[in-house]
Amino acid sequence: MLVDYHVHTLGHGEYGNSLEEVYPFFREASKQGLAQIGIADHTQLAPSRAVSALRQANSYFPEVELRLGFELDFSRDTEEQLNFAMAMPGIDYFIGSIHYIGDWLFNNAALRDEFKRRDIDTVYEQYYSQVNSACMTGLFDIVGHCDLIKLFDPGLPQKGIMYYADPVLKAIKDANLCVEINTSGLQRPISEMYPSEEILRRCYEYEIPITFGSDAHVAADVGRDISLARQSAKRVGYRQIATFAKRRRIMVVF
Ligand SMILES: [Zn+2]
Ligand SMILES: [Zn+2]
Repeated sequence: MLVDYHVHTLGHGEYGNSLEEVYPFFREASKQGLAQIGIADHTQLAPSRAVSALRQANSYFPEVELRLGFELDFSRDTEEQLNFAMAMPGIDYFIGSIHYIGDWLFNNAALRDEFKRRDIDTVYEQYYSQVNSACMTGLFDIVGHCDLIKLFDPGLPQKGIMYYADPVLKAIKDANLCVEINTSGLQRPISEMYPSEEILRRCYEYEIPITFGSDAHVAADVGRDISLARQSAKRVGYRQIATFAKRRRIMVVF
């Protein structure tokens, strides 16, 4: 069973949620053979969500189950934005992600030179310390792209990646959170999924549940490389993935 729990129908705010705009996302989900599509727009865009249009588009493809979520960035979202999204009815899950170090949107290609100006160990330390703090908030269910900091292939920290990542994986386990295998990293200079297979192996050792997401910001990317995510998960030993309904985790064989 394949699912895609990380789909942005509103892009970064450049689209709306009219039936015409969301229909292609469901058509692609059906074409890719997905059992579930999880809509996880950025919380800042929550006021633009039109659940009725999503449900209507879904009705043309009843073989795909719709799940409703949001991707939050607790270090950037305002309390009002978070409260607004959290109060919306019928939410199945929240993804918690880190995209900023201070004011630096580090995953913005226009700002990638900043990696050259900074000490990479410090960058790793700052990134993982924020992921760690996010895990303590209890606000979300799935940790989004948990090693996103590698996306522009900035080189390895001297202390090694696991020096920074491992304590956070323990925090993820302690907080009973799920980690997504996010395939969008394959399109970035690092050309790897998030997380790397090394981190994924550690997740498996810690018995951290996983799910799958494409991080599609356009309909054509829905379900992209999810079959590769499944292969990677199987290689390290996983036999089940987490799905979500009204913030309850349901494990299924994939
Ligand atoms: Zn993200
Ligand atoms: Zn995303």
